[in-house]
Amino acid sequence: MIQIKQLVKKYSSRQGQVVALDHVNLHISPGSIYGIIGLSGAGKSTLVRCLNLLEKPSGGEIIVAGQNLTALSSKELRKARQNIGMIFQHFYLLQSRTVAENIAFPLEIAGTPKKEISQRVKELLHLVGLEDKAAAYPAQLSGGQKQRVGIARALATKPQVLLCDEATSALDPQTTLSILNLLRDINQKLGLTIVMITHEMKVIKEICTDIAVIHEAHIVENGPVESVFIKPQSDIAR
Ligand code: ADP
Ligand code: ADP
Repeated sequence: MIQIKQLVKKYSSRQGQVVALDHVNLHISPGSIYGIIGLSGAGKSTLVRCLNLLEKPSGGEIIVAGQNLTALSSKELRKARQNIGMIFQHFYLLQSRTVAENIAFPLEIAGTPKKEISQRVKELLHLVGLEDKAAAYPAQLSGGQKQRVGIARALATKPQVLLCDEATSALDPQTTLSILNLLRDINQKLGLTIVMITHEMKVIKEICTDIAVIHEAHIVENGPVESVFIKPQSDIAR
């Protein structure tokens, strides 16, 4: 589903050049729940921004569903973005819009007909278990409910990939579990590929099928979760 080949990202700053990703290679199979873990400063956010096309790589390739993201026109780019849904630590919901209107937002941008939008929003509310909150505003919701709205919004355009950036880091342990269970259900029901960027090993152990450990711009370990955990754990992964 996702192939990252020899990905390099460099930033120039007053102190000189920072290499945030140094020849990163990853192969993420369709339907997997792929965890990417690393300490602060390892390069996780940079990888997310390259994957969701907010940042242009300095070198290498990212291929999603057979499409090379590093060689697209701006029109193709907009289309390719719809294939990658995103959820965030701080949810980024629009405060002046209701739950239903937040979920409808990406569909409005995509020019979906009104009737289709309301049907799709209904399905999505059902999927995340928030039918009774359609008319509520984000300020009236708990953290877990806000993230459910985030998930519904991310899935609105029927992406093949869901990219989760520290999606449970702002939630208490019990709410974290309920969100992880929802993500696992969605993975199984829709066959969606999920990429989880996190600094929390418990998230990886709970739901991930595969893991990559990123440290100082390099992937230092990766593979199916069972095989990575049998080996003596590196300090970074603990
Ligand atoms: P993480 O998300 O794992 O904390 P980041 O991707 O944010 O890591 O950062 C990786 C490295 O790149 C760090 O050394 C960071 O200081 C540097 N970096 C990130 N963004 C920028 C930027 N816009 N300009 C310069 N350096 C950056
Ligand atoms: P976190 O607190 O999860 O680390 P950040 O504030 O670092 O979140 O944001 C993660 C990335 O997502 C940033 O590159 C940011 O620009 C981007 N981002 C934030 N809001 C949106 C949005 N609504 N749509 C797309 N990208 C966003």
